[in-house]
Amino acid sequence: MSRFSDDAAAPERADGGLHLLEWARRRVPGSPAESNAVRDLLDGKSDAEIAARRGLPIAAIRGLRTFYDDLGHETEVCDGTACHFAGGAQLAERLRGAGSVRTVRCLGHCFAAPSFRRGDSVFIRPPAQPIAEWLNAVGASPPRPAESGAIPRIAMADPPVVLRNLIGSRSRPPLDEYDLPDGDTILSALEHTRLRGRGGAAFPTAAKWRAARDAPGVERYVVANGDEGDPGSYVDRLLLEEDPHAVLAGMLACARVIGARHGVVYIRSEYPRAHQVMQAAIREARDAALLGNEFDVEVVSGGGSYVCGEETALLNSIQGLRGEPRARPPYPAQRGLWGSPTVVQNVETLAIVPWITRTRQGSGTKAMSLSGAVARPTIVEVRLGTPLIQVLEEAGQGPPTGRRWRMALVGGPMGRVVPASRFDTPLSFDSLPGMGHAGIVVLDDSVSPRALAEHLFAFAAVESCGSCTPCRVGTSLLGGIRERAVMERLLATLEMGSLCGFGAGVPRPIRDLLEHFGGEVLE
Ligand code: SF4
Repeated sequence: MSRFSDDAAAPERADGGLHLLEWARRRVPGSPAESNAVRDLLDGKSDAEIAARRGLPIAAIRGLRTFYDDLGHETEVCDGTACHFAGGAQLAERLRGAGSVRTVRCLGHCFAAPSFRRGDSVFIRPPAQPIAEWLNAVGASPPRPAESGAIPRIAMADPPVVLRNLIGSRSRPPLDEYDLPDGDTILSALEHTRLRGRGGAAFPTAAKWRAARDAPGVERYVVANGDEGDPGSYVDRLLLEEDPHAVLAGMLACARVIGARHGVVYIRSEYPRAHQVMQAAIREARDAALLGNEFDVEVVSGGGSYVCGEETALLNSIQGLRGEPRARPPYPAQRGLWGSPTVVQNVETLAIVPWITRTRQGSGTKAMSLSGAVARPTIVEVRLGTPLIQVLEEAGQGPPTGRRWRMALVGGPMGRVVPASRFDTPLSFDSLPGMGHAGIVVLDDSVSPRALAEHLFAFAAVESCGSCTPCRVGTSLLGGIRERAVMERLLATLEMGSLCGFGAGVPRPIRDLLEHFGGEVLE
C-alpha cells in the first residue's frame, strides 16, 4: 500500500459538503495518482467500469465526466487570448473535417500562436510563417510538433533568479538545488526576504508555511500548483519542463518547514511534456536519495478545468472529486488535502526558494510571458516595478512591422486591461493589483474593445464551475448586456456574491475596459 494511503475508517475527517464522495474515496487504497478517478477518465475507462472498480456511485463518475473537459477529444485547438486573436477559430474550422475537435484555454504556446494538440504533441505556427500559409499547410499535411526547449526566454533582470538555470550555461548541477538547510533556517530566510507568492495572490510565503507548520494535524502535505490555466502564461510550463529539480527542491524546502512527508505536483493535462519530465526528475532524485526518504513526491494530472487552478478546487481534484472550490475558512494551511494542513504553492514561487535559502537575498523579480502583437514573443524576467512599455520595447522589440498597439491584457481573464496610453504603468503586485501571474498579451488596433470583452465573457461563461449562483448565472448573462448601469450591477453582484476568486475576478478586466473604452465595450 502506498505511503499516501490514509485511514479508510476516518470519515469524521471528511470536508463539509463532500461526505459521501470523500467516504467512498477513502475505501479505495492508493496514492493520490492511483486513487484519482479523474485519471481513469483520462485513460478512457467507461463510467460503469470506474464506478465498479472504485466502489463509487455511478452518479459520482458522471459528475466528474461532465466537469472535466479534457476527456477523449482527438484534437484540441487553443482558444487562449493570443491564439484567439491570431486565427484560432480559422484553425479549428480547418481541423474540424479531420475528426473531433474541441477548444481549450490554453496550451501554453502563446509565443507561436495559434496552436493545437493531438495526443502528447503540440503543433505551433512557426513565428516567421504567415498565418494563411500555415493554415493551408495544416490542412494539407500536419506540421511538425513543437520541439522541446523551444520556449524563448531572456532576462532584463541581472542576475536572473527564476531563470537562473535556463539562460546561458548552468552554473550548478541540477541536483545541487536540493542542498538545503534545516526548516527553521529556511523559514527565517523567507521571512527575511519577504517572498510573496508568484502565482497571482502575492501572499507572503513564510506566513503560509508557518500557518501550516503550526496547524494541528498528523499528516501534512506540500502541493505544487502546476495548473497554469491563465491564457497568455507559460512561465510554469518552462520551469516544469526545463528546471524540474528547482521546483522539487522548493517542495522539499517547504516539507522541511512544515514537517510534511508527502507532496503532489499537480500538472494540467494540457502540458503532456511537463508530466514526462517531472516523472523522470522525481525518479532521478529518488535514485540519488534526495527524495523518497524524508519526503516523497508524485505527479497528479488535471482534467481540463480552469477553476482547478484555485487552490481548494485543486485539492478536490487531487482527491478525485469535481474541481469545485471549497468555502474558506478553513484555509488549506489549516485543513487542506484530506483535511490535513497543506501548503499549495505556485511553481514559480517554489523554484525561487532554493536560491533564496542559499543567498538570503530577496529576488525582487518576476518572470513574465509576453505574446500577441510584439515582434519578439518571449518569457522575460524583469525587476518588479519595471514599466510595461519598457518590457514591450526591450523584450518584445516593439510592435510587429506595420501594427499599432491598442491595449494589453495582463494577468489573464481575471487580470487587467491596460490601454496603450497607460503603457507606462509599472508592473508590480502593488501598482497593478490583479496582474496575477503576469501573462501579457498585447493587442493591436485590429482588435476592438468589444471583441476583447466578448472573448472574456465567453471564457467566464465556459469556465465557471457552476457551484454558486452569482457566477453560474451571472457569467452567462454578461454577453447580452448593452446598458452600462445593468452591467455595473451585475459586476458588483459577481464581486460580492461569488464563492471564489474566479467569479469575484471576472469583473476586473471588464471594469478596466469600461473605464478606458466606455461605450465601445457595450456596442
Ligand atoms: Fe464556481 Fe464561479 Fe462560484 Fe468560483 S465563483 S465557485 S468558479 S461558480
